[in-house]
Amino acid sequence: DNVSHISPTTFEQVSGLGSGLGSGSGGSCLSRYHSYLHRKPSPHKPTAYLLSKLRNYENLHSICGPHTHSYNKIMTKGAKFAQNHATTHCKYLVWTPSNGLGNRMLTLVAAFLYAILTDRVLLVKFGDDMLGLFCEPFPRSSWLLPMDFPYWKDRKHIQTYQNMLIKHRGNNSKELLPSFLILNLQHTHDGRNNFFHCDHSQELLHKVPVLILSSDQYFVPSLFMIPSFREDLSKMFPEKDTVFHHMGRYLFHPSNEAWELITKFHQAHFAKANERIGVQIRVFNTHKAPHQTIINEIIACTVKHKLLPELDLQKPAEAASVLKNQTTKAVLVASLFSEYGEKLRALYLRNTTVTNEVIRVYQPSHEERQKSSNGMHNIKAWTEIYLLSLCDSLITSRKSTFGYVAQSLGGLKPLILQRAFGETIPNPPCQRARSMEPCFHYPPKYDCSRSNTPVDFTSLFHYMMHCEDVSSGLRMV
Ligand code: GDP
Repeated sequence: DNVSHISPTTFEQVSGLGSGLGSGSGGSCLSRYHSYLHRKPSPHKPTAYLLSKLRNYENLHSICGPHTHSYNKIMTKGAKFAQNHATTHCKYLVWTPSNGLGNRMLTLVAAFLYAILTDRVLLVKFGDDMLGLFCEPFPRSSWLLPMDFPYWKDRKHIQTYQNMLIKHRGNNSKELLPSFLILNLQHTHDGRNNFFHCDHSQELLHKVPVLILSSDQYFVPSLFMIPSFREDLSKMFPEKDTVFHHMGRYLFHPSNEAWELITKFHQAHFAKANERIGVQIRVFNTHKAPHQTIINEIIACTVKHKLLPELDLQKPAEAASVLKNQTTKAVLVASLFSEYGEKLRALYLRNTTVTNEVIRVYQPSHEERQKSSNGMHNIKAWTEIYLLSLCDSLITSRKSTFGYVAQSLGGLKPLILQRAFGETIPNPPCQRARSMEPCFHYPPKYDCSRSNTPVDFTSLFHYMMHCEDVSSGLRMV
């Protein structure tokens, strides 16, 4: 196809989604060329319009990217650089990290989509904790924000979006808009009341050449609320629940280091299994339910939804081990805690199943706690997210952005474990998500008229619903 840069051999290339070049550490990006070996082709094809938007974006990025003439002009002069920025066509969206890897990947996709919609160039501020994770996504240029970006020196003097809104209320302010602006969309920072989803805010933001974004939210549904973006978005995504699926697959190619871990695990445990089942166990408060309750809940869920067979408690494991040509199912357990994988592994090693299927349980890591500023910790997290996305079916934990990334990349509607208390297994133990899209945990509360009338956006947009796991959140369907 003529929109693709490279000859068609992999899924991304066949679909034209991929830009086809670049790796994080120089040299070629192996995952970009080899992912089709592990990943089934997506049944969701990107529209020609989305592909043309991506190709236009790549072009803009190569013209305006780091150290180009336009970049140097705006950036290296620092925040004091006056208003003659009208002489360049390049505008920027600088992404900064917040929270864990799942949150970061959600906001990277949201930021990328916002950049495309507003003709901005996305530059990411990655520290050592993120530099080893991904290949460069865009051809002929880098998405890494250069170290000499002046903002870090001038941080205190930079205006914020919230202040700008106050100053420009009623649009009658004579004050000039700044060249650099901090756009804080964190959920803790007035997240539900920031009017980012309104055209009047977007008109102001449009005039600012450099936006510095800080967010931990998947704010894509807000973009769909903005009238001036809606037509573009519906042409890009006629299937509204594929936004992260397409954009995430476009942006996130594992670095060669992460790819090696993924490939090794895949060859050792996934390749020969007849079916792969991912179980992501994120316990936000370890003391709430004992490990055994969660194990029982997972078993109840897998049996109810026929992902795993029941155990045959009459027959010892040795009796079945002589059978040939048994089907095997590989269960990938992702969790910070080793107990889950150990208990599940032991259970299926010691017992046979009523169908005689062999169930093998693997847990690649148990980091015990979140260490998001550590590079190797993040590589393990990314490896597990990716492996979960390769599964045929997924069981995930409520409210976890880690699980959201895996499900959307995989194109899977997971079974979400319900909240367990004490020793009681919730009934039902798990609930099927209606969409593979991530949940926007803190969507806006008010409409744009500034009348402070709370709005239920699901009644305005038929393709938005409240999330199964966070009832005040929004998910695209
Ligand atoms: P969330 O907190 O579940 O929404 O997900 P985040 O990814 O934003 O933050 C949790 C972080 O904790 C992850 O990024 C990892 O650093 C770590 N973590 C949580 N669960 C796992 C897991 O199953 N495996 C690994 N390797 N790390 C995990």
